[in-house]
Parts: sequence; C-alpha cells; structure tokens
Amino acid sequence: MIAWLEARFRERDLGDVRRRAEDNYVAAEAAVRFIDAYAESLDFKALGFERCTAKGTGRPPYHPADLLKLYLYGYLNRIRSSRRLEAEAARNLEVIWMLRTLRPDFKTIADFRRDNRKAFKGVLREFNLLCRKLELFGAELVAIDGSKFKASNGRRRHFNAEQLREVIKHIDQRIDDYLRELDTHDAEQGPPPPPSSSPPAGGRKPETMAEKIAGLRASRQEHAALLAEMQKSARTEVSLTDADARKMCDTQRGGFFIGYNVQVAVDAKHDLIVAEEVVQSACDRGQLGAIAQAAKTELKVPSLEVVADKGYHSADELEACEAADIITYVPAQGSTSGRSSRDGSRVFGKERFTYDAVADEYQCPGDKRLRLRGKCRSHGKTVLHYANAAACRSCPLKARCTGGSYRKIHRLRNEAVLERAAARMAGKSAISARRREVVEHVFGTLKQWGHGDFLTRGLERVKAEFSLSALAYNLRRVLNLKPMSELLRALPKAA
Ligand code: SF4
Repeated sequence: MIAWLEARFRERDLGDVRRRAEDNYVAAEAAVRFIDAYAESLDFKALGFERCTAKGTGRPPYHPADLLKLYLYGYLNRIRSSRRLEAEAARNLEVIWMLRTLRPDFKTIADFRRDNRKAFKGVLREFNLLCRKLELFGAELVAIDGSKFKASNGRRRHFNAEQLREVIKHIDQRIDDYLRELDTHDAEQGPPPPPSSSPPAGGRKPETMAEKIAGLRASRQEHAALLAEMQKSARTEVSLTDADARKMCDTQRGGFFIGYNVQVAVDAKHDLIVAEEVVQSACDRGQLGAIAQAAKTELKVPSLEVVADKGYHSADELEACEAADIITYVPAQGSTSGRSSRDGSRVFGKERFTYDAVADEYQCPGDKRLRLRGKCRSHGKTVLHYANAAACRSCPLKARCTGGSYRKIHRLRNEAVLERAAARMAGKSAISARRREVVEHVFGTLKQWGHGDFLTRGLERVKAEFSLSALAYNLRRVLNLKPMSELLRALPKAA
C-alpha cells in the first residue's frame, strides 16, 4: 500500500480510537451520526470528487468524506463560512467526534467547496435515491417555484449601460473641476510648491489633487472599458464583484438587489426538494420545462403532475412539458385583450371568441367567422392574425368589440397548448393553494436559516452552494420524518 494511504489510514485509525472514547458525548439520535454514516456510504470517486486518490508524494490530503461531513453539518446548523467551520472543528464536540479530531483550516475547507462544485448536485441526487428507498416521495404532484437569493455583490457595484455613461460623465466633470481649480491656483500663486512644503492655508495640496485626478482617470478608463465590453457582448448590465449576478426585483421590500433566481421542484408528499437549479434570468417564464423534466427524471416516473404560479405561464414551456408527459397546472397571466389597443377602452375579451380547430377560424360574439389573414413574428414567436373586416363594418356590436375599423384576433402557433392548460385549470383553485403550502415552506425555511444570501461568487459556485442548502433542507426534513435506526439501516454499504 502506498505511503500516503498508510499515513491516512493511520490517522483515521487513531481518530477511531479517540472517537470511541468520545462516543458518549454524542447523543444516539444526534443528526451528526447520520451525517457521518451517510458520507461514509458514498462513492466519492463515482460522484466526481477530487483528491479521492493521491499522487503518492507530499502530505496526504483530507478525504472528501471528512470535508463533506463538515459542510453538511455546517449547512444543517446555519454555519456556512469556511472560517466558522474551521472554528467548529476545534471546539464543537459533535464535529470533533465526526472528524475524528481532524482540524482542516479554512482554506482547505473553502477549496473543497470550490474544487468540487460540480459534484454536490450528485450528492443531493444520491440522498434523494435514499428518500425514494424510504418511500418519502409521493412522485405524483410536484410544486415548482422560484425565489431570488442575494449575490455577494452590492447594489452600488452593479451598472447598466446608462448608469455607466452617467458615472463616466460625472468623473469627467470632477476631473474638469479639479483641473480648473489647479489653473486658478497657478494663476493666483504661481507654480505649485514642492511636495515637502506645507499647503497654502485653506487650499488643497497640488500633489494630492494630481493624485486624485490620476485616480479619477483610472476609474474613468475602467468604467469606459466595462461599457465597451458590455456593448460588444450585447449584455445589458454588469456586476463588478460577482460578474454572473443579475439585477432582481425585491418583491417584499420594493426596489431591487443583485442576485440569482433559485428554482426548485418540491414533491408534495413531504415537501422534499426533488430538483433544483440556479439561473441568472430574473423571470420565471421560460424555466418550467427544464425544472419539471429534471424532477420527472429524478423521480423516475412515466408521467408527473406539476403545479406552478402564473409567472411560469408560457406556451413554449407548457408544450415542452406536454411532450415530456408532464401534466401542468399553471394559471394564465392576466390578459389585456379585453382592452382596445387604440384607446384602452373596454372591448370583448379574447375568451368571447371561440376557436374552430377544424376550419382554423374564430367565431366572434356577433356570430361571424374570422378567417386567417396573415402572420408575423413577435418576440421571436410566430403570431397568426384572424379577422373579418367586411362583417365588422356593418356589425351592431362593433363599438363594444373594437376601437379600430375591424377586430383582429392574434393566435400563437402553439396556442392550443394554452387552451388545454386553461381547461385543466378550470375549477382547480385548490391545487394552487396546495402549491403555496408545499413550495413556500422550502424558501421560507431556507431564508430563515440565512441561506438567502450566497457566500460564494460566480454561477457555478453559487449552484454548488445551493445544492448544499437543498441537501441540508432535505436532510432536516428526513431526520424529522424517520427514526435514526431506520435511516441508518437504509444506507447502502460503504464503497
Ligand atoms: S365587430 Fe367584427 S368581430 Fe366584433 S362582433 Fe362584430 S363582426 Fe364580430
């Protein structure tokens, strides 16, 4: 056996001896016992963790199991920073027992989360396999929702193109002011005094002003470069601390903050997270298909019912769900079709027009047929137009139907999907209430634990961080649902 492995085993064996002595300090039902056994049961190499095998030279690395245990324990107990985890490894009896007195430093702990960011999703998946084995997933109804989590990026460190132009203009103004002040000083008092001399009473040091001007010029250059880069990449905003973070509306307090949009699919049986994702888009529209399909894959079921709020209502997404045998319950967005586009006056809503799929025509409230008259592209989608100008001209209902010379009805290429979704939602108000109960519990809990602010920066790292948060949430739920003995029995044998 190679030297490093012997050294690690010796270290772990010694730890085991110490652990037996400390065993009495840890309660039989303590969560730390399950975390310890669960991490030991994982196949870290298969999950893609780094440093599962060493090079045979240098100091033996910490085994991923030990560092994962530390993170799981920390996330479960609202301790997420690497420095605080380092402190816990030295003073918390449960952690000392779990790590067999190993004391990784904060850099080792932080590096583990950074280097293994892609593997954490797999750990959550493994844990969900255990949940399936324990029959904790109903696998019938899944609630989907999104919530905005804060990034490690202040509002003042975020700009759009217009704000950058404003900042550059402001810097130019300040440079001009300083230069003017220097000119005035030169005209009144001759050339500036040497650096060692004391400044004139009430005046600035010319050297200090020169430094300020240099600083402002550097800042101007930096902001101009950001603006140029933004224009080149067709991006609309830039965050200086976490470049991947985006502007998100703060629905609770108003205004905005810089963050990420966290998407979860939660099984309705025990409110367990089935699938999770972190996206940069502030809008939930466009997210339904991917997260619903991820949930179905995780649950390994032939079909699945999903419920989401109206923010997810999109013909393309509903169509993707239909194609994947996912039955959706998503209320429609409020329609503006009951208002005239000309003067905003009240007119017949689109729901008063009945579509005849066989003839590809609409029947209007005046009992006339509106035929397909053309199509156009709008927001990247094909929109069909239906009208009957001749019938509208002599129609007694015209004043109640349109503000223009005739009524035009717009139809998406895949609008039949929306009609089927609306028919499913009819009389299903209870399912929306169920959605709130299921999914809002998840975000409420995580934010109450303080997980609503990301500590890491960059989309990939933030995704890893949320996978750990989701795992901690599921772990807590499962520990509340099942006795320790049953959980330990259900674990697979260590690889
Ligand atoms: S105005 Fe045109 S579309 Fe409206 S009810 Fe009359 S005929 Fe039908």
